[in-house]
Amino acid sequence: MKSLDEIALALQGFDPQALSVEKAQEFIKQLVHPPVPAATEELALMQAFGRVVAKDIVSPINVPAHDNSAMDGFAFDGKQLKHGSLQLRVVGTAYAGKAWQGQVGSGECIKIMTGAVMPDGLDTVIPQELTKVSNTPNTTTIEIPANMLQAGDNRRKAGEDLQLGLAALHAGMTLTPAAIGLVASLGIEKVEVYRQLRVAYFSTGDEVLSLGETMREGAVFDSNRYSVLGLLNRLGCTVVDMGVVRDDPVLLERAFQQAAAKADVIITSGGVSVGEADFTKSMMKKLGDVAFWKIAMRPGRPMAVGRLGKAILFGLPGNPVAVMVTFLAFVKPALLQMMGSKGKPAPYLRAQSAVELRKKPGRTEYQRGFVSTLSDGTLQVRAATNQGSGVLRSMVEANGLIVLHHQQGNVAAGEEVDVMMFDGVI
Ligand code: AMP
Ligand code: MG
Repeated sequence: MKSLDEIALALQGFDPQALSVEKAQEFIKQLVHPPVPAATEELALMQAFGRVVAKDIVSPINVPAHDNSAMDGFAFDGKQLKHGSLQLRVVGTAYAGKAWQGQVGSGECIKIMTGAVMPDGLDTVIPQELTKVSNTPNTTTIEIPANMLQAGDNRRKAGEDLQLGLAALHAGMTLTPAAIGLVASLGIEKVEVYRQLRVAYFSTGDEVLSLGETMREGAVFDSNRYSVLGLLNRLGCTVVDMGVVRDDPVLLERAFQQAAAKADVIITSGGVSVGEADFTKSMMKKLGDVAFWKIAMRPGRPMAVGRLGKAILFGLPGNPVAVMVTFLAFVKPALLQMMGSKGKPAPYLRAQSAVELRKKPGRTEYQRGFVSTLSDGTLQVRAATNQGSGVLRSMVEANGLIVLHHQQGNVAAGEEVDVMMFDGVI
């Protein structure tokens, strides 16, 4: 395990006083290596939603298990298809879930339902709506018009979705709604997943009130705890909520030590800005190996990162929007790495900025924006008018963050920009 100084030394051009977002992300990647959850657990599939798979899940069967019909129609041997139309006598019916027993000879076919197993020797299905059915008292015949079909049409082959012996999911993949359904389709009841990450969280600051306390002048209600708990829940972490901790060395020391004893990760908000007259920073310094950065970003800027005992510490800024943005930029990727996830973040969307954006090169800016589709299909993003780092309302009204990269300058109206959408695109 490398110390913070060792990581910093190995990073070219590392400057804790003017750190680019990319450099900070690279640093954190090394800090959280190796990922924490060496421990895995076996869970019933129903309990495993959102968890990260610890071992490849190999298919014990072919999916589908047998060749089957993709349509309601009539199944026959495709070798009989010639240039002209074809008349076939119907000799039985195959239902889904019940194999049809019997022989189907030349000049014959069976009525077949979607999903029913294709009897031996039959490889082609004509959909019901494309045939002409004629009934006499003893026989039913169908007519397949000329040049309508090719052999093998409308048949799903065994193993077409997934072949026996192949990995359905790889270690590091998350059990999303689609992934968990795929595992279930293989008949697998239990899965080996990484254990959940335990994340302890508290807010700091004497001006911060817990809900239920009486408002007083200069105070604010603690919103950060709620936003962070929401973000942690989205990631599927086990959350240890430690409330608001007063700016008192005894209380802070106790909180940090309790958090380090029971959590893999500690997140705090507030008390890390420059010239902050409080004990949060000194307590982090006293108890752990912690670096204090000024990140070239907006909102955000001050942030503490390090280790407290075995736990990774993120000291986020106090401003509510800065908390969420630094979480998305730094904490979320770190947590995913620690959870054993090998998933890649969703790519940025490219959208035309509706307005001119002022931006100084030399820092990364995350501007709250609303992406919509214009009537001609163009994706447009409108930056919120108030980008103040305390304005949580504009975070609520936005559906993404416009990411103005480190070297980027002003953006003209109509120019394309990158947008990090709040919801993943499926
Ligand atoms: P700080 O980083 O401690 O200087 O805090 C910056 C700003 O964020 C101040 O205006 C605080 O009142 C506000 N703030 C700090 N902590 C919280 C919190 N938990 N909830 C809401 N606002 C906060
Ligand atoms: Mg403060």
